[in-house]
Amino acid sequence: MKEFPLEYNNLEIDPVIFTQGFVPGCNVKTCRGECCDWGVYMDRDFKTVVMKFEEEIKSVMDENQIKNSSKWFEKELEEDTDFPSGQAAGTELYKTPSGHNQCVFKDKRSYCSIQVAAVKNNMHKWAIKPKYCIMYPLTIIDDVLTYDDDHSSKLSYCGIKHKQNFTQTVFEAMTEEIRFIIGEDGYNHLNDYFIKHYKPKA
Ligand code: SF4
Repeated sequence: MKEFPLEYNNLEIDPVIFTQGFVPGCNVKTCRGECCDWGVYMDRDFKTVVMKFEEEIKSVMDENQIKNSSKWFEKELEEDTDFPSGQAAGTELYKTPSGHNQCVFKDKRSYCSIQVAAVKNNMHKWAIKPKYCIMYPLTIIDDVLTYDDDHSSKLSYCGIKHKQNFTQTVFEAMTEEIRFIIGEDGYNHLNDYFIKHYKPKA
């Protein structure tokens, strides 16, 4: 049963994305990519896409990152209907020299080696990046586009507990990401709704 009035291409839109606050934008210099410290799940088949660029990714990793690609992903797949194949592959974590756990793909500058490799090889910056990494703090759960309050509650800059840092809504902050995930028409559909129902009148 549908829970929310707005949808696009069978994706329901939780209106929380139009009201939840967020920071001016993702800025790893400020947050040190804290959202990457638990790794990420991607579709089982997307792991194959990432692995096609194994050498390119290794070539941009720093001296602390794990170059042995057999240690990049969890051995067991997770059953998860939020992914097209019905199974998700999780990235592994590694410990930095300072003892901090983070995604195997996060480098010492807090950049994602998958994204760095894509840019270096003239691809779109998100061409081979897992969808849920692109989307954060948005997420899709049971075909609903919503705010990832669970993950957000752990974060010390942009997270839900840090209202003092908020300058805009998640929807306004994530325009590029939403366009990438659901396309220009999808974004325009959501933006019309935002302007009509949520945007403060000038
Ligand atoms: S794959 Fe890249 S963006 Fe995603 S959690 Fe790992 S380092 Fe972060």
